[in-house]
Amino acid sequence: MRKRVSGYIHILQVLFAVAPVFMIVYVQRHIPADLLFDHHLFHIVAIAISILAGLAVTAVAWRCYAHSGEPFQRWLTLGLLGFTLIYAFHGVFTPWAEERLALFVLYGPVSRLVMAACLLLGVVGRGTGPEPLLRRQGKGYWLGAVGIFLIIDAVVAVVALSPVGSSVVLRLGLELSALVLLMASLVTLVTLVARGVRSPLLVTHGIALAWFAQSCLAFMLASPWNHLWWLAHLIFAAGFLLVSYAIGQAYLTTRSFLEVYSYADLIEQVSAEKARAEQALAKLQQINEDLNQEVATDPLTGVANRRGFMDRARHLQELREQAGSTFSILIVDLDYFKQINDRYGHLAGDAALQLFAKKASAALRPGDFIGRIGGEEFAILLPGSNLANARAVAERLRHEIQAQPFALNDVTLNLTISVGCVEAGAEAHTLQECLDIADQRMYEAKRKGRNRVE
Ligand code: GH3
Ligand code: MG
Ligand code: MG
Repeated sequence: MRKRVSGYIHILQVLFAVAPVFMIVYVQRHIPADLLFDHHLFHIVAIAISILAGLAVTAVAWRCYAHSGEPFQRWLTLGLLGFTLIYAFHGVFTPWAEERLALFVLYGPVSRLVMAACLLLGVVGRGTGPEPLLRRQGKGYWLGAVGIFLIIDAVVAVVALSPVGSSVVLRLGLELSALVLLMASLVTLVTLVARGVRSPLLVTHGIALAWFAQSCLAFMLASPWNHLWWLAHLIFAAGFLLVSYAIGQAYLTTRSFLEVYSYADLIEQVSAEKARAEQALAKLQQINEDLNQEVATDPLTGVANRRGFMDRARHLQELREQAGSTFSILIVDLDYFKQINDRYGHLAGDAALQLFAKKASAALRPGDFIGRIGGEEFAILLPGSNLANARAVAERLRHEIQAQPFALNDVTLNLTISVGCVEAGAEAHTLQECLDIADQRMYEAKRKGRNRVE
């Protein structure tokens, strides 16, 4: 669908670009060539307006160039500046149109030729840039350019006043040269766009080039003051407005002719960016989850640490308060653990802690939860268990630990545990009270000789 629409748009662009030809043919065929509109003041005012517009657009183009440093924009600025400075004299010499026709008329084709030359150089030398800041922002270069254009003005005056000045061949030759240069730059531009330079501003610029070329054609077919001659002015002015529009767009967006993208490109870029952002977010969420997991885990045994255990205990406590579900807590302390460290070394103690965590985890049901809340002190959550169930689980665990001595390298450790049990809700209400009770009972088990459940 989009492809077909863009096909239609290309056809429209071409029709738009050649539209002036239809007007030229119409005026040429239906309006007598000797019907004149010889109005000096009208001409002076029209030229004055275009000179003011030309200076303004030149300034904006220069600002764009100073920002982007694109050679294309430098040549565009030079072309606009040259055109404006030379064309101004076409207006200035209007009152002499009768006595010194050449002086009046020659500035037109010369201004178009200078602009066409600059535009062609801009399109041809498009690839290299950005240019050095000194040239971009320094005044010397531009003052030099103004000087050159004023010299061209003087040369035109001299030639116009010489005998060759009034030759029609000279005027037509200049106009034809401008036409050829404009066509050459148009062809170059079209190949550039076809080769994938996607800036829509270049398309606008191309249409303006086509209009400039057709205005040269109209000027060649016209004679001063007739209607085709005025139409030629009009076509040129329309091209000038189009270029001004493109420069304005460049100024308001990226200040570059080449880095302005089409709507389709922008959508493509935005969705690529969005996909990248979403990917990064998902990765961040994963890292966050991993980090939370790590923060709540005991690195030695791999079971929950005190923080992880308390999170889960608070969760069960909330469930109990809201839904009345019961749960129990076991506090488990390894007996005479210091002796293991003293006798076999700290590493053996660590290994024993790891083995205990592994055995205890294996002995529990899937819903139960074990955490290491101190050095050799563990706590176990038993959701759905009352005190009698909890006691049974504790007895089973105590028995299993006692019955299977820990084999560590070449030594065998006879480990036992002391356990304190509590049923949440039945004997105490807050979590802290429950933990205190279970702790007291564990110490009671110690006092009563260890390796027992209270
Ligand atoms: P009981 O609990 O039966 O009264 O005697 P105990 O020897 O276990 O006594 P206590 O609770 O005072 O000692 C705990 C010892 O656990 C102290 C410390 O050396 C040891 N311990 C604590 N954390 C670690 C650890 O991460 N690795 C090792 N190897 N030992 C630890
Ligand atoms: Mg102990
Ligand atoms: Mg202890």
